[in-house]
Amino acid sequence: MAEFTMTIDGKAVKGSKSFGVINPATGKVFAQVPDCTKAELDQAMAAAQRAFPAWSRDVAARRKVLNGCAAALQQPPEGLARMLTQEQGKPLDKAAQEIMGAAIWCSYTATLEIPIEVLQDSATSRVEIRRKPTGVVAAITPWNYPVMLAMWKIAPALLAGNTMVIKPSPFTPITTLMMGEILRDVLPPGVLNVVSGGDDLGAWMTSHPIPRKISFTGSIETGKKVAASAAPDLKRLTLELGGNDAAIVLGDVDLAATAEKIFWGAFENSGQICSAIKRVYVPEQMYAPMLAKLGELAKGVKVGSGLDAGTQLGPINNKPQFERVTELVEDAKKHGAKIVTGGTRLGSEGYFYAPTIVGGISDGVRLVDEEQFGPALPVIAYKDVDDAVRRANSTHYGLSGSVWSKDPVRGAEVASQLECGTAWVNQHLAIAPNLPFGGAKWSGIGVENGPWGLLGFTEIQVVNVVK
Ligand code: NAD
Repeated sequence: MAEFTMTIDGKAVKGSKSFGVINPATGKVFAQVPDCTKAELDQAMAAAQRAFPAWSRDVAARRKVLNGCAAALQQPPEGLARMLTQEQGKPLDKAAQEIMGAAIWCSYTATLEIPIEVLQDSATSRVEIRRKPTGVVAAITPWNYPVMLAMWKIAPALLAGNTMVIKPSPFTPITTLMMGEILRDVLPPGVLNVVSGGDDLGAWMTSHPIPRKISFTGSIETGKKVAASAAPDLKRLTLELGGNDAAIVLGDVDLAATAEKIFWGAFENSGQICSAIKRVYVPEQMYAPMLAKLGELAKGVKVGSGLDAGTQLGPINNKPQFERVTELVEDAKKHGAKIVTGGTRLGSEGYFYAPTIVGGISDGVRLVDEEQFGPALPVIAYKDVDDAVRRANSTHYGLSGSVWSKDPVRGAEVASQLECGTAWVNQHLAIAPNLPFGGAKWSGIGVENGPWGLLGFTEIQVVNVVK
């Protein structure tokens, strides 16, 4: 078995304990990784704190180092994409795209300026707004896009002058540990520390006295615990949490073309995307043909091991998530929903679930009201658009949403009524490094990406000078 190490103070740390990582395509442990102890976490935090003064001094030097990080990830070791497929489940080409995406995100972020705004500059006074790094950042990530979501935190936090301790999900720790191993040669010791462990390790990080900022991506339930844990020390927070994105189809669309885009907006990465389409509202007169078309698309998808050529969708990442999707679909069945296609596991090994389209369902059933985060899509009929918007908004979630129409002006007008961080028209999942991404309501606090995400890793300082 290959050995994976934590990165603490620029050094490889095997750790005194370990835990197994399961390949979701087989359901079996295929690797061991370090299980970070409290003492090892203290070492990582102390290393980040020691590295902070020198690292925070020179933005030009930081920019150069980040470009070096991007270059290192642009030519990753051969095994990185394969390892991502093995621990996460996604097809190998998608794994390679995720790694390339992380490199692109890093090099884009390295171009951003940290502004000094001059509010006043007269003969007698000068007032500047400066942005100072917050200090040590504790970063915690989920299992759906471990490489990309780590980079959404690493690049802006480091460019802003912070140092970091990052912890991936226990379901997908390997590629983040490997990123640490790759970037160890590029970054000064202590600037980026990578530790692996279970949920307890996350809780130790958020209550640790050293970090001044927590950047967390994960579920709403955990996000609330993180916020509570940050409160006594008033640590700064960015929370990127779950979503229950509604897609509202207007009556004028081209049905086949729209169905295909909606299908992939829902099922990409086997539905395990925070901002995937998680419920579709369709006008009554279009309901039956839309349901049939989505069912046909779901039937035609090749589901299998991400390592097999031609696989379009891999397994669900882990057993609890597999059980959750199963439970929500079974609950929908009990409530009289119609399973158009899917609704069962595939094979007996691993966590494969058939792409599932569910009709005859409405608000008030768990599959519609809760985040399924998996390959099962409820399709709901509506009578008038205002009612569809009201139902889309009647939730604590507020990550993103989309409206589909031949008329982009009308589409944008309806989309602007959605209570969410991103409102798309005739597309979904269009996420880019220069666009702020974040959730309204329970879907998050703050944003990531672009200049807005970068400034989230800073504190404002007013420098007010009398000449
Ligand atoms: P999760 O909340 O279970 O875990 C996320 C991370 O938090 C893991 O690293 C976990 O070990 C850690 N953790 C668990 N308990 C903790 C605690 N008490 N204190 C600190 N850390 C703790 O989420 P998940 O199942 O890994 O990910 C799926 C969820 O993430 C979905 O809800 C999805 O929508 C959301 N997500 C959001 C975004 C976004 O940008 N908004 C992106 C991807 C995923």
